[in-house]
Amino acid sequence: MCMGLIEKYVAAMVLSAAGDALGYFNSKWEFLQDGEKIHQQLAQFGGLDAIDVEKWRVSDDTVMHLATAEALVEASEDLDLSRLYSLIAKNYQDCMGDMNGRAPGGASMQNAMRLEPHKPNGWRIPFNTHEGGCGAAMRAMCIGLRFPHHDQLDTLIQVSIESGRMTHHHPTGYLGALVSALFTAYAVNGKPPQQWGKGLMEVLPAAKKYIVQSGYFVEQNLQHWSYFEEQWKKYLKLRGILDGKSAPIFPNPFGVKERDQFYTSVSYSGWGGSSGHDAPMIAYDAILAADDSWKELAHRAFFHGGDSDSTAAIAGCWWGVMYGFKGVSPSNYEKLEYRSRLEGTARALYALGSKKEAEKEL
Ligand code: ADP
Ligand code: MG
Repeated sequence: MCMGLIEKYVAAMVLSAAGDALGYFNSKWEFLQDGEKIHQQLAQFGGLDAIDVEKWRVSDDTVMHLATAEALVEASEDLDLSRLYSLIAKNYQDCMGDMNGRAPGGASMQNAMRLEPHKPNGWRIPFNTHEGGCGAAMRAMCIGLRFPHHDQLDTLIQVSIESGRMTHHHPTGYLGALVSALFTAYAVNGKPPQQWGKGLMEVLPAAKKYIVQSGYFVEQNLQHWSYFEEQWKKYLKLRGILDGKSAPIFPNPFGVKERDQFYTSVSYSGWGGSSGHDAPMIAYDAILAADDSWKELAHRAFFHGGDSDSTAAIAGCWWGVMYGFKGVSPSNYEKLEYRSRLEGTARALYALGSKKEAEKEL
């Protein structure tokens, strides 16, 4: 692993949380469904660089991302996955005590409270057709920081799926967790973003195989499998990047209003980014267009009429892995809530993730 990657791990955890806080704006912007109004208010603040996040709390996304990350750190090098799942389940349950004013998602909250972390398999819940929300995706990026190497791909698939279906036992929900983790690992390996979508398409059969092998609600999972895959394929075709080679094509114009319309069009029920397929999709769309511009990323992934804090938390993490804190106004993260916890976790994940040199990139 190259020099400077540790700073990128730190940026990944911190900028994910900064994105969450910015997109959430103490619940005002998460639930404001008109991106143009958000951009007007942003301009009144003096734009992104002028925002000091001191009073901008992080939302459920960051609290749960930390819960996943701290379980991975606590498990350390021990790859007894059932122990890891118990640790994750315990953290998901415990972190519900820290949700005041953070607008936790319904499935996340209800199911985390149902888990029985200390019992064997107590981290499992039954299948549910209503659990395709983005709650699993928003907290899984750190799994890619922990397992970034090609020969860890199976572990990344399993841990993202099982952590996801602890509260979201529906493919649209837990496959969102897989994308969040997988694209983080791709970013760690320096894979160019226009190749990520094709990579996902190639990984999905292995995810399906795992679901079958794990033998838990197999029939229901397979029955509801296709929606996620079809939505992603359609999106990748639209941007012209299904081949993993071409440069992405964007509509022109593609301003705040057009983006809001597009985000709504890819959504499940009219709120762009609130499901497991479209939260990472919108984050990815922003990554493809933003290159190294934090501001452009924020405009596309943090400030829109959809579920803006979740798309922000995911995009902020991927961008941080690629660019560190490059060009980010310190006011956007210096006084961020939980900053030292995020940094400490990032450093510990780096120590674990860098133990093994990659033989081949993911
Ligand atoms: P969270 O996933 O954050 O815990 P919720 O349970 O409140 O939050 O769900 C958030 C969103 O998930 C809702 O907007 C809903 O439309 C969407 N959703 C629920 N079930 C599905 C599904 N099967 N496929 C896609 N989206 C779904
Ligand atoms: Mg949130």
